[in-house]
Amino acid sequence: MRGILWEDTAAEPPLSAPAFAGEAACSVAVIGGGYAGLSAALHLAGQGTDCCLLEAGSVGAGASGRNNGQVIPGLKLAPDALEERYGDAGAAVVETASGAADRVFELIERHAIACEPDRRGWLRAAHSGVALASVEKLARAWQARGAPVDLLDAGATAQALGSDFYLGGLLDRRAGRLQPLAYCRGLARAARAAGARLHEQSPVLSLRREGGCWLLETARGRLTAEAVILAVGAYGERLWPGWSRTYIAVQSMQLASAPLSDNLRAAVMPGASAMSDTRKLANAIRLDAAGRVCIAGRGPLSGRLDAGVVRQLQGGLTRLFPALAEAAWSHAWPGRVAITRDELPRLAAPAPGLYGIVGFNGRGVAMATALGRAAAAPALGRPAGFPVVPSAPVPLHRLRRPLLAAAVSYYRLRDGLGLASR
Ligand SMILES: Cc1cc2nc3c(=O)[nH]c(=O)nc-3n(C[C@H](O)[C@H](O)[C@H](O)COP(=O)(O)OP(=O)(O)OC[C@H]3O[C@@H](n4cnc5c(N)ncnc54)[C@H](O)[C@@H]3O)c2cc1C
Repeated sequence: MRGILWEDTAAEPPLSAPAFAGEAACSVAVIGGGYAGLSAALHLAGQGTDCCLLEAGSVGAGASGRNNGQVIPGLKLAPDALEERYGDAGAAVVETASGAADRVFELIERHAIACEPDRRGWLRAAHSGVALASVEKLARAWQARGAPVDLLDAGATAQALGSDFYLGGLLDRRAGRLQPLAYCRGLARAARAAGARLHEQSPVLSLRREGGCWLLETARGRLTAEAVILAVGAYGERLWPGWSRTYIAVQSMQLASAPLSDNLRAAVMPGASAMSDTRKLANAIRLDAAGRVCIAGRGPLSGRLDAGVVRQLQGGLTRLFPALAEAAWSHAWPGRVAITRDELPRLAAPAPGLYGIVGFNGRGVAMATALGRAAAAPALGRPAGFPVVPSAPVPLHRLRRPLLAAAVSYYRLRDGLGLASR
């Protein structure tokens, strides 16, 4: 089996940006070439800010080039819960989250990014009666805010999905899907065209305050900046003290089929771009433009991709679509997701002039793009439009592996009992 499907099918070519070398200065340095960092660089450069982005590998080397490509607006909490959680800033958070998918599709159009956008909505399917009640509540909360979210009964869900496995669902028409690596490369191309200086194969090895500025060191160069945006997702260990303790990196795996026959292709998700269900340990499923089915799910803590993981993902799919038992599987690959305890992302300021963005909890295509844009504002000394919080470690972070293992068993039990997740 081959590795990352998106590397084989991206219409946007690799960026091929030069490695950073020598001495340079800029107003804002961005660390990390995923959606968060690239969106920040694009918005900074678009406002005429002198900005320089350093990426350890190639653009999209992290989760942004590996994910399932579902463009889902909103956060894991319902809009009313977000308003309660964030108080005065609640309305701005809901607006940012609600409009996050719109912003992605606008960027794709404005910059003519060749990333197979498909906007027929995201289906959240209810696996139990309790889950259905929570889906109904969520749909009503969004409908009350004028969002194009439809509540589907069991028959309509079966029609949209091509499977009668579920009791009902919610179809969020703000949502869609895209080719994740191509979107990432397109953002990079747009950021560079707007004037951002981009460097690949340039891991930042140290970051510190020196003489009133930030100093970033790579193997071959030194960059000084007035402000820094740290956008290293779940892929940046130890660059800033304590930063990697503010989230937990969880392994996720994906499996893609060879292009399905026309009959099968028409039978899988005919009425939605993408789906996931209400189980906490849910799978995310979509087709790509060539009719391959692609499923993402939880991976082993070791991060090793083995036959057991592949079988588990295949089982998840064939339970919904028995006809896919005949499908041929061509690609499998791992990726890391940064999760937070409250399932909310962070725009944090761990030090003056240093802004970190992390914790999209599997909703980063839309939300990392949104928070990258939001982080550009405080880096220029302007209000962010999203709460900037102090960076706080996840309690008992040292024990995350045994705690994660226990959490997986606990959630498997809850899922089996039909309890709802967010
Ligand atoms: C299997 C999988 C499926 C997913 N499916 C979906 C989905 O369908 N929909 C959705 O919304 N979200 C999904 N996600 C989550 C989504 O991919 C992420 O939330 C999002 O890509 C995070 O973007 P980012 O820019 O914060 O981080 P990343 O994309 O991880 O980028 C961080 C970058 O920082 C670089 N870096 C790290 N350290 C350094 C350093 N010292 N110097 C320079 N660069 C450094 C890395 O190389 C990396 O490129 C999924 C994730 C996975 C893994």
